[in-house]
Amino acid sequence: MSRFWSPFVHKLEPYVPGEQPKIANLTKLNTNENPYGPSPKVLDALKQAINDDLRLYPDPDSSKLKQTIADYYDVETNQVFVGNGSDEVLAHIFNALFQHDFPLLFPDITYSFYPVYCQLYQINYQTIPLTEQFEIDINNYPQKNGGIIFPNPNAPTSRLLALTEIEQLLQNNTDSVVVIDEAYIDFGGETAISLIDKYPNLLVTQTLSKSRSLANLRIGFAIGHVDLIEALVRVKDSFNSYPMSSLAVNAGIEAFNDQNYFELTNKKIITSRQQLVQDLVLLGFEVLPSFANFVFVTHPQYDAEELSAGLRQQGVIVRHFKHTRISHFLRITIGTSEQNHQLMRALKMLM
Ligand SMILES: *Cc1c(COP(=O)(O)O)cnc(C)c1O
Repeated sequence: MSRFWSPFVHKLEPYVPGEQPKIANLTKLNTNENPYGPSPKVLDALKQAINDDLRLYPDPDSSKLKQTIADYYDVETNQVFVGNGSDEVLAHIFNALFQHDFPLLFPDITYSFYPVYCQLYQINYQTIPLTEQFEIDINNYPQKNGGIIFPNPNAPTSRLLALTEIEQLLQNNTDSVVVIDEAYIDFGGETAISLIDKYPNLLVTQTLSKSRSLANLRIGFAIGHVDLIEALVRVKDSFNSYPMSSLAVNAGIEAFNDQNYFELTNKKIITSRQQLVQDLVLLGFEVLPSFANFVFVTHPQYDAEELSAGLRQQGVIVRHFKHTRISHFLRITIGTSEQNHQLMRALKMLM
C-alpha cells in the first residue's frame, strides 16, 4: 500500500498464476505447460535469429507470423491479430470489443483472468453457472449482453462444447462479440475458425504456449472478421507498437511449419491422458471427460487441498482452486509417461 498509488490501483485484485517453483527437480503438473520441448526446428530458428539484428526494433505488424497463421488456417492476413501471449490478446479484446451497456457473460467456473480484465477495464460482468456436470449450456446465455467469452475446452474443467452448439449460440446472439478462447483446442477439439466468415461477431483466440510448447516466448493470436481485428490493432498501437520480438516471430513460424512434430507430441499427450485417466479411476477418482492437456479430478474420500499438499511434499505439484464449487477438485497437467507414473506413485503413498 502506497500513498502514491492511484485509488484505482488500490482496488485492483491481480490474477495469480500457478507457481513457477525456484527449486529444481519438481514434477511440475500445475500450469498446463507442454512436457515435451519445442520442435528442434524452432530451436534452430531461434539460434539463427540471435544476431546483430537484435539492435533493431522488430516488425511492428509481425507480418510474417500473421501470414503463416493465415495460411495454416486458410484465412486472410487481415483476419489475424498476434500478441504477446494470448493473455495480452485477451486484454486487448476486453478493452476494444466488449460493450458496457449490458454485462459481459462468462461461466461461473472458467479462466480466472476474465474477471481481472473486467476490473482493469471497468466492464460489468455476470457469471452463468455451468450445469451440475460442469457443462456450458448455451440456453442459459441471455441475449442482452455486452459480449460472451469462454474457453473451449473450458478451463479448468477440461470439458468440450460441440461446434454445433457454438454455432447455435452465434445464431441466437448476433448483437455482441462472442469470443471462443481455444487455448486447448489442439488436444482433441474442433476449432471454431471455420465459422468466422459466417459470423462477423465471432473471434477465436489461440496460443502457442500449450500445444506448441512455447509458453516462454509469449505468442498468442486471434482470428475473426477484419473489423474486429482492426479494433485490436488500434488498441495495440495505442499501447505497445512492438509486442512481438523477431525471436518470437521466427520461432512461431517454425512451430507451425513443423506439423510432424506438432502431431507427434500432441498424440503422445492424448495417449498419456487416456492412460492417466484409467489409472486415476482405478484409485477411485472421478475424472471429468478431458479434451485438454490436463484432467480435472475429485475423490469422494480425500480432501483435494490435503492431497495437493501431500503431493507437493513428494515433489509433485498440481493446481488446486479455492472457488467453493470446485474446491474438492484438482487440476493435473498431463506430463510425460514417466511424470504421470511419479504422480501415481505419490498419490498411492497418500491413499
Ligand atoms: C493458458 C491460457 C491462456 C493464456 O495463454 P498465453 O498465450 O500463454 O498467454 C489463455 N486462456 C486460457 C483458458 C488458458 O488456459
